[in-house]
Amino acid sequence: MLLYETPRTQVAKAALTLFETGLVVNTSGNVSTKVEEHVVITPSGRPYNEMEPRDIVVLDLEGNIIDGDLLSSSETPLHLAIYAAYPQTTAIVHTHSIHATAVSTLLSELPAIHYQIADLGGPVPVAPYRTLGTSALADIVTKTLRNRNAALMQNHGAVTIGNTIEQALTRCITLEWLSEVFLQSHQNGKPSIIDNNELENVRRRQQDLIEARQKYLNKRND
Ligand code: 13P
Ligand code: ZN
Repeated sequence: MLLYETPRTQVAKAALTLFETGLVVNTSGNVSTKVEEHVVITPSGRPYNEMEPRDIVVLDLEGNIIDGDLLSSSETPLHLAIYAAYPQTTAIVHTHSIHATAVSTLLSELPAIHYQIADLGGPVPVAPYRTLGTSALADIVTKTLRNRNAALMQNHGAVTIGNTIEQALTRCITLEWLSEVFLQSHQNGKPSIIDNNELENVRRRQQDLIEARQKYLNKRND
């Protein structure tokens, strides 16, 4: 029986989804989840389409290896710093997806060009460039994520966080889509922007919709 078999399987599955949706190329990007006092994370430099649950590495919160034969992701310091700073966060996805990376080279913040940015916590800030895998990168990206569920990393890529792997993955797909929308609209003129008050209305409306859907389901199941 593999230690943390379920979360290791979920992380391997998320990595495969990133590969299949084209959000990662070659071995770029990484995925992790926090389980109790441990972090379950993709290994460094391994192809996602061949990844097995046993290839996923189990660390403690200081980064010591608890289980696994492979070296954990080179961005382990980033994942550990985010979990330390934001205790509610239990999943992280990092990619070099093409449109998000392109936006990271152009802007200091991805503006609210579509209401779906509300799920990312509002306009997405770009963390200034630092060398991959360093504690300097971990620090600056962690700070940039304050009050946000997503950040872009200048000349590098994107990172999203969530309470579940699915949520972090969905946010990563949303961020890539928003980045593509931004680049397309920017090519054709000056995109209009949704203001903060309206983003607050969107958040409330989305919360109401979640509750309405649940209420409807509960009623049908009565
Ligand atoms: P790893 O394969 O070591 O996770 O590195 C990929 C990456 O995205 C580095 O920034
Ligand atoms: Zn990277």
